[in-house]
Amino acid sequence: MNILFMGPPGAGKGTQAEAIVNEFGIPHVSTGDAFRLAIKQGTPVGLKAKEYIDQGLLVPDDVTVGIVRERLQQSDCEKGFLLDGFPRTLSQAEALEQLLGELNRKLTNVINLKVDRNKLLARLTGRRICKSCGSTYHVIFNPPKQEGVCDKCGGELYQRSDDNEESVGTRLDEYINKTAPLLQFYNEKGLLREIDGEQEIDTVTKEIVSLLRG
Ligand code: ADP
Ligand code: ADP
Ligand code: ZN
Repeated sequence: MNILFMGPPGAGKGTQAEAIVNEFGIPHVSTGDAFRLAIKQGTPVGLKAKEYIDQGLLVPDDVTVGIVRERLQQSDCEKGFLLDGFPRTLSQAEALEQLLGELNRKLTNVINLKVDRNKLLARLTGRRICKSCGSTYHVIFNPPKQEGVCDKCGGELYQRSDDNEESVGTRLDEYINKTAPLLQFYNEKGLLREIDGEQEIDTVTKEIVSLLRG
């Protein structure tokens, strides 16, 4: 299973990825997570990425493709992977085709989580993440049992610095201009499936699982 999750920022890709990688035992490959780790570690890639992420802009393709190339070549991806947040431009999609070709692999499923733009601001500004295990919560839509504390590991929850109203506006524009055209790209390949991402989190998970088992 070589799965790709598409959808605008806040559609629920990360939330669903947590459930799906558990269900199918494949690694979750998220460029956003990879960049945040690189920033925390202060690597050259992290320093470069931070300039863009802070403004809500996409990180340049060469930097982004480089980290995915390294990640997909690691041995745990041999049994399959779930890509979340990559590709986000046509040129990244072409680079992915090339890379998968070199590895003798193909995408098996492209799933688009559909959520109306007017729902995304509230989702993103209320998002909270666990510092220790990376689990995602929402202050209203998916609150932890105890405020500020992760249900799964007891870790402290934090708000991403780019989950503010200004950055979200820019990110949604970046999505419309640069990422949404990829839906056509994957539709033409016959790979694209759509799921209503406005349903309850568990309902969305069930639909994705049944689509993947289909
Ligand atoms: P993405 O990875 O696509 O940016 P996330 O999975 O981080 O999105 O979800 C964004 C926010 O919306 C999080 O706070 C999450 O808890 C919340 N969320 C995710 N799925 C749903 C849903 N089906 N209904 C309501 N809120 C959701
Ligand atoms: P969200 O799903 O909420 O948009 P992500 O964690 O996927 O957030 O990404 C956070 C930020 O990291 C993006 O706003 C962008 O700056 C950068 N980023 C992540 N993936 C890519 C990518 N494939 N290409 C360019 N920039 C990326
Ligand atoms: Zn946790």
